[in-house]
Amino acid sequence: MATRQKIGFGTWIDMLAYRIVEREKELKRSLNMLRTEAGIAASGFVHIGSMSDSVRAYAVSLAIKNLGYNSEMVQFADDMDGLRSVPAEVPREFEKHLLKPVSLIPDPFGCDESYAVHMENMLLDALEKAGVETKLYRGYEMYGRGVLKEQITAILSQWRAIGEKIEEMTGQSKFKKVLPYFPLCASCGRIYTTHALSFEPETGRVHYVCKGVEIKKRSFTGCGYEGEAEISKADGKLSWKVEWAARWAALDIRFEAYGKDLADSVKVNDWVCKNILGYEPPYHVQYELFLDETRRKISKSRGVSVFTPSAWYRYGSPQSLMLLLLKRIKGTRVISPSMIPSLMDEVDRLGQQFHSGSGDPRKTGLYAYIYGLKNPPKITKPIPYNLLVFLASVAPASKEREFIQARLKKYGYKVDDETLQRIEMALNYYRDFGKPSVPVVELDHVSRKAVAEVAEAINKAGSPEELQSAIFEAARRNGLDPPELFKTLYRLLLGQESGPRLGVFILEDYGRERAYSVLSKYLS
Ligand SMILES: [Zn+2]
Ligand SMILES: [Zn+2]
Repeated sequence: MATRQKIGFGTWIDMLAYRIVEREKELKRSLNMLRTEAGIAASGFVHIGSMSDSVRAYAVSLAIKNLGYNSEMVQFADDMDGLRSVPAEVPREFEKHLLKPVSLIPDPFGCDESYAVHMENMLLDALEKAGVETKLYRGYEMYGRGVLKEQITAILSQWRAIGEKIEEMTGQSKFKKVLPYFPLCASCGRIYTTHALSFEPETGRVHYVCKGVEIKKRSFTGCGYEGEAEISKADGKLSWKVEWAARWAALDIRFEAYGKDLADSVKVNDWVCKNILGYEPPYHVQYELFLDETRRKISKSRGVSVFTPSAWYRYGSPQSLMLLLLKRIKGTRVISPSMIPSLMDEVDRLGQQFHSGSGDPRKTGLYAYIYGLKNPPKITKPIPYNLLVFLASVAPASKEREFIQARLKKYGYKVDDETLQRIEMALNYYRDFGKPSVPVVELDHVSRKAVAEVAEAINKAGSPEELQSAIFEAARRNGLDPPELFKTLYRLLLGQESGPRLGVFILEDYGRERAYSVLSKYLS
């Protein structure tokens, strides 16, 4: 590759930060604070995908700082949104709260001040464990404090022009008849059933009637109440088609990413931001959504309905999750616990490459980001995750921890606090999912022959040392580089590229018969 100048740590995040800064320079806006924003949905349970928006916006903010500019990431919780359906984990009686703003619904679990705060805290906890620093704005409070007042006034004063534009851009004609604002019905407490009919800029009041609405093929009848909402209070909220624009302008946001499903909404918001509010919209990138498939799979087999970040942390480090979320911004991803072993090993590998300056910076640079650019630790002799899970599988019941530690010491690994944490994760993983699957490996003729010879040696070897040298001999006899043959054997036995000294491992832990049965598949 030609000598492309490396920006920051060389990752896509650094490139993006660079583009954001350059754009701001061209726009000649102040460079004192280049703020990034992420949204938090507060109406449902946090799953792994919900963390991605925050993690990416945070990483971009770090990258901007790393280029020498001031930056912060803010999160805006959509907790004025109405509850559209009751999640499976929540008691059925919450049906009576449908369409009420989630900030005004009690916490189903009784531990926080509202439904919304419970959901927000789940995400904030997960982010904190991953070292993500955020500033949270709660929609309910922002509306209540009148922070968006100026923007709401401008938008509602020109609602007809916006309604035309929405139809032109998205085909939706609804906002030619009603204002893009959902008043909270003062009588029934619901938010989408009201229709906003007129706005008085002098008083800041929206006139509405509670007429009813159809959501997810279900129709909700209005209570018929007719009243007025004040835009400087939490009496209602802007429609999605224009709310982003108001937020961007009011909070001076320079970057916000969005999911593929909201592309139309972003188009309208950009137009409103620029043409109605006179604020150049933030730089955007679009990303694909995280697939929910595993969520469903887990819910069936394990009785856990949502694969949450805190469930991930039972099996993998926060950094392994950060790596998953920061890997690429485009491309759909299916999330599954089966990704954890290889992600854990990948973190270690990136760490080694990062500190030795080898490897592709587009990948190794991510190592700095998963530690929030704060002293990413040095990795000396990483312990493969699959080895830990394997040891968990052969450990005598009730003595698992002692057994695994003893074996690791025997193999020359350091057993420190970090190792102890990993042992716990591996024990959890084995208990819940069993051993990681070992993928089928295609071998060429020569490797096959060498593996067959190792299988025979396993049957005959009288000691670990004898087996160890038999493997070296098998490599030499077949003209293979010994490390290559070892790598092949690790892949066949453990599904990974490295592992402990094989002679001891096979005879004392893996088991002579088990190893022979795996390798003999390659005889013939
Ligand atoms: Zn709670
Ligand atoms: Zn009503």
